[in-house]
Amino acid sequence: MNSIERLVRPNIRALCPYSTARDEYQGPLGIFLDANESPYPTGWNRYPDPHQKALKEQISRIKGVPADSIFLGNGSDEAIDLCFRVFCKPGTDNAIAISPSYGMYGVAADINDVRLRSVPLGPDFSLPAKELLAAADARSKLLFLCSPNNPSGNAFPAAELSALIARFPGIVVLDEAYADFSAEGSLRGRLSEFPNLIILQTLSKAYGLAALRLGMAFASPYIIRLMSMVKYPYNINQSTQELVAKALREPVEDRIAETVSQRRQLAAELPAFRCVRRVYPSDANFLLVQVDDADRLYAHLLADGIIVRNRSRVPQCAGCLRITVGLPSENDKLLTSLQAYEKGDIHR
Ligand SMILES: *Cc1c(COP(=O)(O)O)cnc(C)c1O
Repeated sequence: MNSIERLVRPNIRALCPYSTARDEYQGPLGIFLDANESPYPTGWNRYPDPHQKALKEQISRIKGVPADSIFLGNGSDEAIDLCFRVFCKPGTDNAIAISPSYGMYGVAADINDVRLRSVPLGPDFSLPAKELLAAADARSKLLFLCSPNNPSGNAFPAAELSALIARFPGIVVLDEAYADFSAEGSLRGRLSEFPNLIILQTLSKAYGLAALRLGMAFASPYIIRLMSMVKYPYNINQSTQELVAKALREPVEDRIAETVSQRRQLAAELPAFRCVRRVYPSDANFLLVQVDDADRLYAHLLADGIIVRNRSRVPQCAGCLRITVGLPSENDKLLTSLQAYEKGDIHR
């Protein structure tokens, strides 16, 4: 058994997955009497491809990752949950995550009865590589990293990430949900260097397809096979497979460029407001903004119909709101509302 196989839960290593008879027939126009489906063509009467072959080929071309290194899930959230189910024995194994970061790592850990060890980010939200390695013991199966990180917005340097992945004794799950907005880019081109790496990306952010629920995991074919064995057989429904295939034919570069340019503009304009103490550098499609009174500003914006995320109770984010970069017109309305907020202050 190699070092990656040793990390897998023994019951998953031994798992005989659900299989469908449809896998045994590759020809066109068969008469399908195997799955107890309705024969009447409602448009949706047949089960979808459980392996999402066509969609994976398309994503393989876009992302430059071989199809057998791609897992597709019902959002990244499914992939996060599967990491726990494949690698962590409930009540026994543990996982490690940076803090503050995406809330789903902790929720998925709790659901799977796996202890999550939180390691605080360093000064200016830097990667605490030494502390993360020190937090690991023989039962540490997963390390969750997020770059660009949510909610801090910063990407970690690729050199720091790759050095940490090379040294971590378990599986590293690198969540790149926001990588499309970052000059630091993605590590997916270097998958073959890291047999212990799972990269998560999603169509929910830069691709603008959050409603369709499609998350991607990129990893070695061995890890992808494990995740595929454990998932529900038909986890990506037919309408999602079709609508995503269609949407991926449209380019997204212009929208990403506009978002990045709007982010820069907002980051340049926000510090002029008296209530704004600090705008953290962002490589994502949002800004973490520290203000004088986060609860009061949050309530003001809400009353103006502008919903942002109040992160002021998150560790290291005291006084902070997380603001998504919207359309130019929406960002203008945000600035107008901030002006009204400060005018109101003068008249108090
Ligand atoms: C938004 C986000 C995701 C996306 O999750 P989906 O389930 O694919 O919509 C994943 N990770 C992080 C850190 C996010 O902020």
